[in-house]
Amino acid sequence: MEQRYQPQTIEPKWQKYWKENKSFKVQKETSKEKYYLLEMFPYPSGKIHIGHVRNYTIGDVVVRYKRMKGFNVIHPMGWDAFGMPAENAAIDNNTHPAAWTYENIRSMREQLKKMGFSYDWDREIATCHPEYYRWEQWLFLKMLEKKMAYRKESYVNWCEKCQTVLANEQVEQDKCWRCSQIVHQKKLWQWFFKITDFAEDLLVHCDKLPGWPDKVTTMQKNWIGKSIGSELKFKIHGKDEDIVVFTTRPDTVFGATFMCLAPEHPLVESLSKGSDQEELVKSFVKKISSQERSAEGLEKYEKEGVFTGAFCINPATKEKIPVYTANFVLMEYGTGAIMSVPAGDQRDFDFARKYNLEIIPVVQPEGEELDGKIMEEAYTGDGIIVNSGEFNGLDSKDAMDIMTDWLEKKGRGKKTISFRLRDWGISRQRYWGTPIPVIHCPDCGVVPVPEADLPIKLPENVNLLEKGGSPLPTLDYFTKVTCPHCKREDAKRDTDTMDTFVESSWYYLRYCSPRYEKGMFDPEAVKYWAPVDQYIGGVEHAVLHLLYSRYFMRVLNNLGMIDFKEPFTRLLTQGMVCKETMTCPEHGYLFPEQAQRNENNNFKCTMCKSDVEIGRVIKMSKSKKNVVDPNELLEQYGADVTRLFCLFAAPPERDLEWNEDGVEGSNRFVNRVWRLALDCVEKMGGIEPYTGAASDLSSSKAKDLYIKANQTIKKVSDDIDQSFHFNTAISAVMELVNNLYAVDLDSAANEQKQVIVFCLENIILLLSPITPHFCEELFLRMGKQGSILAQSWPVYREDSLTTDEILIVVQVNGKLRAKITMGADSDEALIEKTALADEKIQKYIKDKTLKKVIVIRKKQTLVNIVI
Ligand SMILES: [Zn+2]
Ligand SMILES: [Zn+2]
Ligand SMILES: [Zn+2]
Repeated sequence: MEQRYQPQTIEPKWQKYWKENKSFKVQKETSKEKYYLLEMFPYPSGKIHIGHVRNYTIGDVVVRYKRMKGFNVIHPMGWDAFGMPAENAAIDNNTHPAAWTYENIRSMREQLKKMGFSYDWDREIATCHPEYYRWEQWLFLKMLEKKMAYRKESYVNWCEKCQTVLANEQVEQDKCWRCSQIVHQKKLWQWFFKITDFAEDLLVHCDKLPGWPDKVTTMQKNWIGKSIGSELKFKIHGKDEDIVVFTTRPDTVFGATFMCLAPEHPLVESLSKGSDQEELVKSFVKKISSQERSAEGLEKYEKEGVFTGAFCINPATKEKIPVYTANFVLMEYGTGAIMSVPAGDQRDFDFARKYNLEIIPVVQPEGEELDGKIMEEAYTGDGIIVNSGEFNGLDSKDAMDIMTDWLEKKGRGKKTISFRLRDWGISRQRYWGTPIPVIHCPDCGVVPVPEADLPIKLPENVNLLEKGGSPLPTLDYFTKVTCPHCKREDAKRDTDTMDTFVESSWYYLRYCSPRYEKGMFDPEAVKYWAPVDQYIGGVEHAVLHLLYSRYFMRVLNNLGMIDFKEPFTRLLTQGMVCKETMTCPEHGYLFPEQAQRNENNNFKCTMCKSDVEIGRVIKMSKSKKNVVDPNELLEQYGADVTRLFCLFAAPPERDLEWNEDGVEGSNRFVNRVWRLALDCVEKMGGIEPYTGAASDLSSSKAKDLYIKANQTIKKVSDDIDQSFHFNTAISAVMELVNNLYAVDLDSAANEQKQVIVFCLENIILLLSPITPHFCEELFLRMGKQGSILAQSWPVYREDSLTTDEILIVVQVNGKLRAKITMGADSDEALIEKTALADEKIQKYIKDKTLKKVIVIRKKQTLVNIVI
């Protein structure tokens, strides 16, 4: 007997078997209920990391379980293949992004196959294939036609290092989400998707996603950021133009003594033009463009501003008030303009004191009198209205609606809703992405590329620029085109590419019909498979990919292409994989092999002999040198032990702390089951498993073991079905294995042997989604036919879950005819069924018609059958 499980020979053997038998190829089968499980597709960086392994293992176990439960499962895999790392790597390694990307895809695909993940590889897609992005270009044109996409010149987030624009969602605390450089503001012509059209709908449906973690929907709600208030119009002095502000405190309008515009506000330039202030304003705007421009970032800077040289008219007081531009106003909030009420807002108050602007209290606490000249701070609470003409004496809360109505009658205001969400800027000044399918003509302006000309292929024969940035504008053969409209020959192709988040916003629909040539997807296939039933991925995508995907489904729904709006019915955001760090005072972070344990159990740096500090357990990252390479695990332990450990170490939504002993423990368990199974095969070959009720077993040993096995099946099924808590499911199987080890196989009675075979067969089935190669092999060695994949998920007997048994007396026409024992928690329907099925009772009732069956549950449970 082989004493150990040999992953190096057994795992490739079954991978080959699955491949040859096309075991995971899926087809539409309308007779079965469909189940679409998807893990967020990876960026082809070159190597899968342990976070991928964990994420995909979770998904793989669920789909293998669902297949055994009779679902028609789709479980695809592909590549989020456009994006900047390919460009940077290509520059560094003197290769081409395409070559780099395809090579990475090839090696990562091999690694995933070695993990035994049950993907339908026939459905694989890569977003950098023209067959994929042509449909993205097609959708862009549709959105353009429906005015869901538009172009405007505006200040945008610019990352100097990445040489490109970033969406608001890609700026994290003023830093580029990719390279962590501080982001600046730059004025550029950009394409936008009108996600704000769906702000309300996206918000409302956050509360209708019961399968999503609350933290994700909460983040989305905050990001969309709805606030209710008033929109007020301040006429610009001497011009027939208004400055529009959004305020949640319309009751303070009489106290608005100046106006502040964001430096990025389009009026800043035009208002100051030609005035004495023009130069000052220009240099101020330039200075602010290098500051951090977010709510958090603002706190770092002194609040400052400059007068634009213009005035506007307060619609309530009719007074002329100065218009400033100030660094604490963001375009992101409201309209990018603020009516400044220094008496009621501390920031405005400080600003007014600094620049000697008037402070007029308009709301004061009851029984107090405020004086703008001597006030030391703003009063921001509710109170009584003062200095506000006919409204004096009102409660400020009542005044909100009253004053808004009053201004509305004058055409100067209205109640409104404001969102924090901004339109999604999708132009990127990068090369490795989907070309935006428009042409700029000197006569016709923006001209969409005719549909027949799609795809606009990304030129592959290019030399990348040393400093980054896109080479596309330098390629005459790409940029110079004839205008499709007027045929002018000096039209120019748009040289920007789309944000790669556009590709990931709809890829899950493409998987439904990945080779479809007549559109983004085959409507019939999407109707059958979509939406995704279970999505798995990181919480870091909460306001990026997950929000964009929800938006895209609304776009497609609006275009009549799909009949749903939510892409992911259930979402699991898995925890991170963490490990301790090791640092040397001299050499910084160390790899584990650079730290040596000495006799006192302390670690020393192998290079300088300094004491090594063992740091916190944190997310694995290359820079912290606390990573575990899945390839090494595969070599040492194989896929199944790695899979088992990832699931056993923590429930999926929690962080997993890496621990070498834990991997060893998983390895021991696998081998324990291996030896047990082979021992049983040897000693009990040919014995059929017991499948009856526990109560029919004569020995208490057999009965206890049988009940334990049934309980284990129930526990594992519930843990997977209800919460994906594989860790507790595995613990339950481990307990059952321990119970089996306690039995002496040689002296076991026949009845007990049958129970042992039942236990073993079910252990193999229960573990098969988790350690699939291992279980296939044991299934074969137990003399079973075919693949374990064709087996159904084990079922437990309701009547054999508990040792608490009750005696039930069964009467036929008032005469005692049988006594049966059953689980104490059996319900009446089950008792009746069991009583009628009893052999002795059958003799009496055989061919007679039953008039009545009564179950009486008193001290003695009684079944009375009347025939
Ligand atoms: Zn960057
Ligand atoms: Zn033209
Ligand atoms: Zn050192």
